[in-house]
Amino acid sequence: HALSVVCRCRGNLTLTCTQLNPRRWLNLQEYQSKKLMQESGVAVQRFYVADTASEALEAAKRLNAKEIVLKAQILAGGRGKGVFDSGLKGGVHLTKDPAVVGELANKMLGFNLTTKQTPKDGVKVKTVMVAEALDISRETYFAILMDRACNGPVMVGSPQGGMDIEEVAAKSPELIFKEVIDIFEGVRDDQALRMAANLGFKGPLERQAADQIKRLYDLFLKVDATQVEVNPLGETPEGQVVCFDAKINFDDNAEFRQKAVFAMDDMTESDPTETEAAKWDLKYIGMDGNIACFVNGAGLAMATCDIIDLHGGKPANFLDLGGGVKERQVYEAFKLLTADPKVEAILVNIFGGIVNCAIIANGITKACRELELKVPLVVRLEGTNVHEAKRILSESGLPITAADDLDDAAKKAVAAIKK
Ligand code: ADP
Ligand code: MG
Repeated sequence: HALSVVCRCRGNLTLTCTQLNPRRWLNLQEYQSKKLMQESGVAVQRFYVADTASEALEAAKRLNAKEIVLKAQILAGGRGKGVFDSGLKGGVHLTKDPAVVGELANKMLGFNLTTKQTPKDGVKVKTVMVAEALDISRETYFAILMDRACNGPVMVGSPQGGMDIEEVAAKSPELIFKEVIDIFEGVRDDQALRMAANLGFKGPLERQAADQIKRLYDLFLKVDATQVEVNPLGETPEGQVVCFDAKINFDDNAEFRQKAVFAMDDMTESDPTETEAAKWDLKYIGMDGNIACFVNGAGLAMATCDIIDLHGGKPANFLDLGGGVKERQVYEAFKLLTADPKVEAILVNIFGGIVNCAIIANGITKACRELELKVPLVVRLEGTNVHEAKRILSESGLPITAADDLDDAAKKAVAAIKK
């Protein structure tokens, strides 16, 4: 179980997890998260942010630090061990010379950084963080997250933090410690101290770490986070406990009361189609194939992808209409699918439970006419008001292939492409 907790801590969801839970929490860059931490009295080092190499150089001079750390800002972890397509190795570099900061920033900004949490081609770096470096004598892992199994917040920590926490979770699960938090009571003193001791903080550092833990929990509550992750939570030879890395995810349901936080979301790392889909309350996830799936419900969407695969086809995406769908959403969904040049056929698979099939049928026929649909369309409808829906489709005069069930629909969609 600790492993699953830690995997969820690491932010980047795999496609499968996303399919099971298509909601994506707001994710901020490290420097933005650290700003929030500073405001809550959490110990982070001094830093500046830069968009160009010359700004980075200036920032490094201005810091006037004994040692400087330069960190590429992308919404994924594992940067330390990542690689740029400029050839530069490592998204985190330490140096004593400001001039080197300028040179390194030149090989980071505008280039793609690939880490074990990014897509294969990496993510383009648009911003770097220039921070004061500190010697780290020990790296621990600490996170607070909303955990379904605990029905509330839980603290997770390991004395062996740093860059390979996934490996620690897999190989030495006994080194992962959990502490379930009562949301009404908050983090108790004894819990914070026990976690600090489990993280291996000794003597006066134990108190200091427990204090940081409590402040991190205050922040977690204050900003409606679903996850606050610090890896490493380190100690310095001078005897300071410092948060060297930061990753915070936020509860989308709290957007209305966290306006300042959500305003920081620049969407630049989001897939534009996903962003457009989200505007219409549609869940869209792009995939590699050529058959678009227009489905209601994540479970049905996964089954649809599987059956397409079974019949030798490949899904182009995963589009979940959700429950109380309106005609306008059906139209917008079709617009998204047809705008994708990869899509060579569309498979509609709707089970009308809450959804009225006639609404879907009306949305589809309207979209087909207005968008001049150019690819084959296979439709399988079942459930509420299905007879009316089938009548609307067949009387529309549009070249729509009707399917009896999901298996039939998948076969027909795959066959339509082969033609
Ligand atoms: P990521 O988790 O994406 O690899 P981190 O911010 O954790 O990025 O940085 C990677 C490693 O770089 C850390 O584990 C730590 O050893 C080192 N590091 C990060 N920030 C500092 C700093 N301010 N001073 C010294 N070392 C640092
Ligand atoms: Mg880290």
